[in-house]
Amino acid sequence: MSMEQIVDKYFRPGRLPHIWCPGCGNGVVTGCICKAVDKLGLDQNEVVVVSGIGCSSRASGYLDFNTVHSAHGRALPVATGVKLAEPRLKVIVVTGDGDCTAIGGNHLIHAARRNIDMTVVLYNNSIYGMTGGQYSPMTPLGSKATTAPYATIEQDFDVTELVKAAGATFVARATTFHAQVLADVITKGIQHKGFALIEAVAACPTSFGRHNKMPNPATLMEWQRDHAVMKAAWDKMDAAKREGKFPIGVLYEDTSRKEYTGAYEELIARAQGGKK
Ligand code: SF4
Repeated sequence: MSMEQIVDKYFRPGRLPHIWCPGCGNGVVTGCICKAVDKLGLDQNEVVVVSGIGCSSRASGYLDFNTVHSAHGRALPVATGVKLAEPRLKVIVVTGDGDCTAIGGNHLIHAARRNIDMTVVLYNNSIYGMTGGQYSPMTPLGSKATTAPYATIEQDFDVTELVKAAGATFVARATTFHAQVLADVITKGIQHKGFALIEAVAACPTSFGRHNKMPNPATLMEWQRDHAVMKAAWDKMDAAKREGKFPIGVLYEDTSRKEYTGAYEELIARAQGGKK
């Protein structure tokens, strides 16, 4: 499917042009979500896209599904309400590293713990882009930001490990350079019955790159190309070879755990049957 076909089918023409900067990776990630939906043949009226606040969260306004552009950090509780009210709907959350892991960090942990069936696409641009370039929990240690002119001294965390520990049953990562891999893992995440998180490492030349000697979008893409390693190759690397790099692909999947809305329906049936 070409980008023109994606825009024609899945974007609201009245909401364009978008506000994203030239060279921003958000368009690639959003295009990959559309490709995944298209590959799965999902009915646009049966898909709900919920976002929080930030550059990436603007995607909910551009996409032609049922959409909710909610409050900062609150996409997951809104998405949880939607999914509980209508479990047949496919719920996709679009969020950023600041929105999802700082302001919304507590919601993230508990949505993962419940294993509620939704797909979270976390656009990781390593910074708060929209609000002026402050560092986020996922800004790499030692990077510069408007709030860290001498570089951050806070250890960033790996959100894929965080949600896995919290109880997520599908965890994946890809980059905007590896767009094919990204579309593939989003497709698998939507198919997965349970809480799925896909970290999409996205180029942000304006707020991250400019402060970190990578103002050219191509340089950021080259950085992604040179630091991401496919999971199969990663598994064969020793600690020394892994230093400074990160794995992409499906990182973790568990199909054995009960999904939350199913468990909730069982609970309702038990209660209506008078059984405790
Ligand atoms: Fe994209 Fe960064 Fe611009 Fe936001 S600030 S639109 S993430 S390039």
